[in-house]
Amino acid sequence: MPIATVDPATGETLKTFDPLGPEELERRLAAAHAAFRRHRVTDFAERSRLLHRAADLLDQDRDDIARTMTTEMGKPLAAARAEAAKCAKAMRWYADRAEALLADEHPLPADVKDSGAEQARAVYRPLGVVLAVMPWNFPLWQVIRFAAPALMAGNTGLLKHASNVPQTALYLEDLFRRAGYPEGCFQTLLIGSGAVEAVLRDRRVAAATLTGSEPAGRSVAAIAGDEIKKTVLELGGSDPYVVMPSADLERAARTAVTARVQNNGQSCIAAKRFIVHTDVYDAFAGRFTELMAALTVGDPMNESTDVGPLATEQGRADLEELVDDALGNGAVALCGGKRPAALSRGWYYEPTVLAGVTPQMRIHHEEAFGPVATLYRVRDLDEALDVANDSPFGLSSNVWTRDEEEQRRFARDMGAGGVFFNGMTASHPAFPFGGVKRSGYGRELSGHGIREFCNITTVWHGAV
Ligand code: NAP
Repeated sequence: MPIATVDPATGETLKTFDPLGPEELERRLAAAHAAFRRHRVTDFAERSRLLHRAADLLDQDRDDIARTMTTEMGKPLAAARAEAAKCAKAMRWYADRAEALLADEHPLPADVKDSGAEQARAVYRPLGVVLAVMPWNFPLWQVIRFAAPALMAGNTGLLKHASNVPQTALYLEDLFRRAGYPEGCFQTLLIGSGAVEAVLRDRRVAAATLTGSEPAGRSVAAIAGDEIKKTVLELGGSDPYVVMPSADLERAARTAVTARVQNNGQSCIAAKRFIVHTDVYDAFAGRFTELMAALTVGDPMNESTDVGPLATEQGRADLEELVDDALGNGAVALCGGKRPAALSRGWYYEPTVLAGVTPQMRIHHEEAFGPVATLYRVRDLDEALDVANDSPFGLSSNVWTRDEEEQRRFARDMGAGGVFFNGMTASHPAFPFGGVKRSGYGRELSGHGIREFCNITTVWHGAV
């Protein structure tokens, strides 16, 4: 994939970039390693000051960077602005809380005595240079939710961003530089995915985090495994959205639309499979389809647009294949199922609701990365759980029910890294984020996220 800004609303290539040559790559690896030696011994007050400064700058830059994101990957402009604001908030969250989250841990006095120690504690020390391989769909947020905790913990970062968001990637490096981070603390590597292996194998790189597709995760995890280096993987999702009879159906239908089409349907935590109790199936399916069909599809720079283009031509082709496979095998499109006739340029796709989906169809098992929803009718809670868990993914899940016993069952039995009742999945710095099964492993955000890239060290003192 060339490193280039290609406007998904028009298909026009706006700017291309040369990948880093070997000498420049070596210079940057050396800088990251040298910066780690200095950054690891800075105190939390200094790290917090730098991250607050970066958050302030990001707030000032919000409109400009939002336009860059929309130009590079097509998300509606208002959503791009909201993403930038969310990043600044998360940076301040970690700037203010990292010291407490990484405070020394003291075992029980009886256990310390039992070990023969005078005193003992566990301390969190940084790991080193962390390589972040990131996707284009939330081009700021995915990076910040790695960078803010990693830098606060004393690590340094190397960003290999998706090849279609180079200007956002370069903006991020510039942001941290302007905030006053010393040279080498956070750098963007303009390299293709083929160059990741050499960077990951480099002895100066301690660990890696990857957010992206299953094949990319498999490749990076295999190399890191070979090198015995720590990884965190945040991969795909096909989150269930269960609607039970006690749900507030109007709210459930409205939220379902946002949960499916946010970011033009290209979110790992988007609700993708809508599993509806038979008692309310017809009412929910009717209202949901009506709302999906009424969305405005068009230029993402236009403030009234609900759904912009897909980010890449290949992404739309993949989505079309999944929908065509389902339609060819007996599914029915309640709305959409094709490109919008009025938009001849750009990579648009109509918001689509598919009914009659069966396990024989690819879309039952694969992730639909675009504004396409699948509907399932179920008899009861057990069947709802069976369908929800019948997926290779396990990122998050959404359940609409006011029944407390049902909530207890779903919270206990859903095979996912999150269960959101009467609302939609969203990420927030205070809560751990991540999945099970093919959605990956490890956690981002919260205290769990900042500790992923720490060397948890036992410090033990015998009698002197
Ligand atoms: P992708 O192709 O896997 O790309 C993600 C990143 O990995 C890019 O930087 C890409 O570089 C790089 N990459 C691709 N193949 C690689 C390989 N073999 N070795 C090393 N690096 C490689 O993913 P995408 O299609 O752009 O993004 C969509 C996917 O990301 C979806 O599956 C979505 O669910 C997932 N996602 C997950 C989360 C989460 O938090 N769980 C969040 C957002 C997205 P190039 O661009 O240069 O190819």
